Amino acid sequence: MKQILITGGTGFVGANLCKRLHADGYHITCLDNNYTGSLRNIEQLINQPNFRFVEHDIIEPYMPTDCKFDEIYNLACPASPPFYQGRRSIFTTKTCVLGSINMLELAQAHDARILLSSTSEVYGDPKEHPQCESYRGNVNPIGIRSCYDEGKRCAESLMFDYQRHEGVDIKVIRIFNTYGPLMRPDDGRVVSNFICQALRGEDITIYGNGEQTRSFQFIDDLIEGMIRMMGSPSNFSGPVNMGNPGEFTILQLAEKVLEKIPGTGSKLVYRPLPQDDPTLRKPDISLAKENLDWKPKIALNEGLDSAIAYFRKAINQ
Ligand code: UDP
Repeated sequence: MKQILITGGTGFVGANLCKRLHADGYHITCLDNNYTGSLRNIEQLINQPNFRFVEHDIIEPYMPTDCKFDEIYNLACPASPPFYQGRRSIFTTKTCVLGSINMLELAQAHDARILLSSTSEVYGDPKEHPQCESYRGNVNPIGIRSCYDEGKRCAESLMFDYQRHEGVDIKVIRIFNTYGPLMRPDDGRVVSNFICQALRGEDITIYGNGEQTRSFQFIDDLIEGMIRMMGSPSNFSGPVNMGNPGEFTILQLAEKVLEKIPGTGSKLVYRPLPQDDPTLRKPDISLAKENLDWKPKIALNEGLDSAIAYFRKAINQ
């Protein structure tokens, strides 16, 4: 049976991936330091056969000798601006850089294929729209987002150097804004904030004028894309964009959420735009369509219904 390691396995994306791959019949090792993840996300898996949880921080080497991994999904990294910035910014860079080195060393030792979850943040505040993988980005190297943006850019660079010089079998995906069940209600990103604010009858916090855009992908579409990328021929390493090309302004998102959660009395309030907040973001997904026969199936309208049902329960727990 295929042995799969998922770092960041108790986080939003990781826990959804653990569930799917365990249900598909694989042996899963879920590794996390639980900084942003939570054991609650994997509570139905924790005592199941073919599943184990390892508490570990990938900043430290991890080289188990009691098993041999076939595949490593390296997802570990805080991904929400309030969690990756500020006091934790150095930790974020270390997770991206030292964490990638440690996981690449493991992949090399185990002769495992390794997939890095990189990010649309590698494009920074893009000057090209929509963003293709060939676009090299417009990143502020010393701003408050750079620990994450440059961290992931360095992680990508490490992946390709280990491929070139050490022969490691690598896959790189660039994830665009993703939402859905198992996100933390206090995650701080826009979809969870707006839904939880509306459900609690609190004001909806629009940063800046709300005209900036994002393209929102439902988690199940991402999981399907990741698995297809992991299973793709070894001459296709990426990087490949994974996102939903449906593009919305932040104001449009707020309106949609308020339409779906009516009568709570929430009003729109405007807050300062954070430094280096990208103005536009929309993936060009031609490469994924061509190479993986993948495209998202769940539009924002439908995905928001599932997310709202999840957050309704989560905030009452
Ligand atoms: N945003 C907002 N209100 C919030 C949280 C975020 O207006 O309560 C904005 C944020 O400034 C950004 C967009 O929504 O322009 C997406 O932010 P998020 O943190 O979800 O993701 P990222 O900036 O990493 O794409």
